[in-house]
Amino acid sequence: MSTTLLRDPSALEAYARDVSGLRGVPEAVARPESLDEVVEIMRHAASDHACVTAAGAQTSTTGASVAMQGWLLSTRAMARIIDIDAATRTARVEPGVLIGDLQRACAPFGLFFAPDPTSEEESSVGGAIACNASGPRTLRYGATRSHVRALTAVLADGSRYDARRPLVEKNTVGYQLAHDPVDWFVGSEGTIGIVAEAELALLPVPAQVLGLGVPFADEARALAFIVAARETPAVAPRCLEYFDVESFGIVRAEMGDASWAPTAGAMVYLEEAGDGEPPLDAWLALAESFGANAGDVRVFDGEQALREARRLRHACPAAMHERTAPYLAQGGRRMSTDWAVPPRLAAHALIEARTICAAHGVPAPVVYGHLGNGHPHMNFVARNADEVRTIERALAEVLRMIIAMGGTVAAEHGIGKIKAKWLSLQANGRQLALMRALKHEFDPEGRLAPGNIL
Ligand SMILES: Cc1cc2nc3c(=O)[nH]c(=O)nc-3n(C[C@H](O)[C@H](O)[C@H](O)COP(=O)(O)OP(=O)(O)OC[C@H]3O[C@@H](n4cnc5c(N)ncnc54)[C@H](O)[C@@H]3O)c2cc1C
Repeated sequence: MSTTLLRDPSALEAYARDVSGLRGVPEAVARPESLDEVVEIMRHAASDHACVTAAGAQTSTTGASVAMQGWLLSTRAMARIIDIDAATRTARVEPGVLIGDLQRACAPFGLFFAPDPTSEEESSVGGAIACNASGPRTLRYGATRSHVRALTAVLADGSRYDARRPLVEKNTVGYQLAHDPVDWFVGSEGTIGIVAEAELALLPVPAQVLGLGVPFADEARALAFIVAARETPAVAPRCLEYFDVESFGIVRAEMGDASWAPTAGAMVYLEEAGDGEPPLDAWLALAESFGANAGDVRVFDGEQALREARRLRHACPAAMHERTAPYLAQGGRRMSTDWAVPPRLAAHALIEARTICAAHGVPAPVVYGHLGNGHPHMNFVARNADEVRTIERALAEVLRMIIAMGGTVAAEHGIGKIKAKWLSLQANGRQLALMRALKHEFDPEGRLAPGNIL
């Protein structure tokens, strides 16, 4: 085999963790530089009966890109943007391309890739496809799934599998779940094949984008504003991001501006995008009807200001990682929920979730996230293994309540290894059987990303 397998302990250690804090040292690391090399590695793995876990940039929060057994296949050396076709608004890319790099490459064409995980500067397209990643703008444009037109995967036996979304607008042939193989791979977390190339849909950059930071007296008013913003015809938000009192504090600290609405109990960051002038007056009137003070509203206007808003949003998870770092050595870790409920139920769900956590003696979480989609992240700093267990007990109860409300246990980070135990809370026997059947069809020996999802 021309592609070398790294076995040096320091090289293996470099790939032993993702952001979840889970550690698993792979037996070997492969760093293919092309689709042909992925094929070669997967054939080699098949002949050795070796397990293979794909890894992009390893920003997974669920241990999904940690290899607990067998080899790790890193796509970091496959970071070529093969082609951007402005006429068809399509980009063809290798899986290791960072989303931020793709955005910069698309900008001169007046195009952008809609999925925008907060981690876009450090996470890969392959990881986004494998996790069906989403972000603030998902409110308007949907998650990664709807922006993948075609992909080439390499399967467990080393064969190449090309999948393209059907172009027909109607189809009555058989079960819907077999209509579109692209959908099998999006969100499959490396368990049925290695995505080695992808064709992505791009959108035209809107002529006008307005960002507003709107402080509110408390969480109840901020969340009621978010629901109203989804339902008021005069406005059309493309993102509605929530910050509780603590995370708004993180934002202020990052800005170096303690004077921004210092007594506010919550803040909502929103964007509206389109070709005409954004309706600033309508937004201010709506905010004021929920008690916001127009004088406290910060306007983020223009490319640079919008980039700054993204940086401030990213400061929240980054700060939580920093707060957790001192406890990693003693078995602690950052714990972040990824549940979502129907947006109108989010305020109630958050109150109930906080009550359950307090009843378990868990310190109050820091809450921020995509409340426009009914999707907050509750963040906990577990200082040791005992605290991890206590928080997990509380979260098991929270997640049962979320499912009873018609919610999901994982809205964007996937299930990976750490959250695999929650899968059976949500999926019934038939759904689990169908997932196992799909896995078995592509990976009968169970060698791909063992421990992920199932
Ligand atoms: C600070 C921070 C903020 C975040 N914000 C968001 C957010 O807003 N939205 C969101 O959705 N997520 C978010 N995440 C989670 C994470 O960044 C995403 O899940 C991201 O898509 C993972 O990409 P990655 O390249 O790091 O993948 P990795 O972590 O390397 O892998 C993730 C999964 O994808 C599989 N995989 C990777 N590449 C391939 C491939 N080529 N073929 C097959 N399988 C593959 C892996 O096996 C694994 O199962 C955040 C994480 C951090 C640390």
